[in-house]
Amino acid sequence: MRIAIASGKGGAGKTMLTASLHSVWPLRHILVDCDVEAPNLQFFAKPLLEKTIPVSLPVPVRVTETCSHCGKCRAICRYGAIAQFADKITLFPEMCHGCGGCFAVCQDKALQAGQRKLGQIELGSCGQSLYLTGATRIGEVMTPPLLRRLFAELDQLPLQEKLDVLLDSPPGVSCPAVTVARRVDAMVLVADPTPFGYADFCLAYEAFRSLGLPLACVVNRTAMPGNTGGDARLLSFCKEHGLPLAGEVPFAREAALALAKGQPLPELSPAWRSSFQTIAHNLQRLFGENPHG
Ligand code: SF4
Ligand code: SF4
Repeated sequence: MRIAIASGKGGAGKTMLTASLHSVWPLRHILVDCDVEAPNLQFFAKPLLEKTIPVSLPVPVRVTETCSHCGKCRAICRYGAIAQFADKITLFPEMCHGCGGCFAVCQDKALQAGQRKLGQIELGSCGQSLYLTGATRIGEVMTPPLLRRLFAELDQLPLQEKLDVLLDSPPGVSCPAVTVARRVDAMVLVADPTPFGYADFCLAYEAFRSLGLPLACVVNRTAMPGNTGGDARLLSFCKEHGLPLAGEVPFAREAALALAKGQPLPELSPAWRSSFQTIAHNLQRLFGENPHG
């Protein structure tokens, strides 16, 4: 079972929930940080990273003198990575999406391939569990190819047994989050009950529901002073849409202090641990071995 912990916006609490579920998950599992633009799960999980894999994208970097200026490469590129001025072909490798189309149509073999570094993947362990993470190179804006490689590494892990996978998803509903959503069995949406958080949560619900994924909700920072209306609005949304509520995490100063120190919330007290155990239990019950069943 692969469960992505996602949210409509950054700061809703998905990394907090992923780290907390890791802390109480009753079975050996794999923990994956897919938030490759800002991977910070390791500050809570404190993995031992043992292997680094650089990830790059094949892109055209030079036009050779065999170019006949036919313009086919510019015509096929949908990403504006190739321009033609009079008879001069100009390449913008930083805009390339690595589709390979220009190489395929160039009958003169005039495009020289190079590699654009996207970032890196790291593998290691976290107690009894396995740990995978990715990070984009600073300045790199394209994350889906890095995420696809991260999932390829996940698929290739030499495992003796089938393990649950808990994934800290990229925030929002853009390409990185959808890339992850297409590769998991179920998704937990962490909802922030503020007006801004509610709006983004509704967007995320619509986006991921349309993918046919089994969904559940965890509401973070409930009972925030002055925001009782926000809690009620979120809970009634879940009820109206038949979205299972797997749990709530209360607004608490001690939680904010613990998170600032990189301490998973179940370590705060037996009561905190018990509430996250309940969330883990609810997710196992909701999604189980066959979440689509
Ligand atoms: S497709 Fe090849 S030959 Fe045609 S313009 Fe592009 S680089 Fe030149
Ligand atoms: S590989 Fe694809 S995206 Fe990149 S320059 Fe060629 S056609 Fe454009």
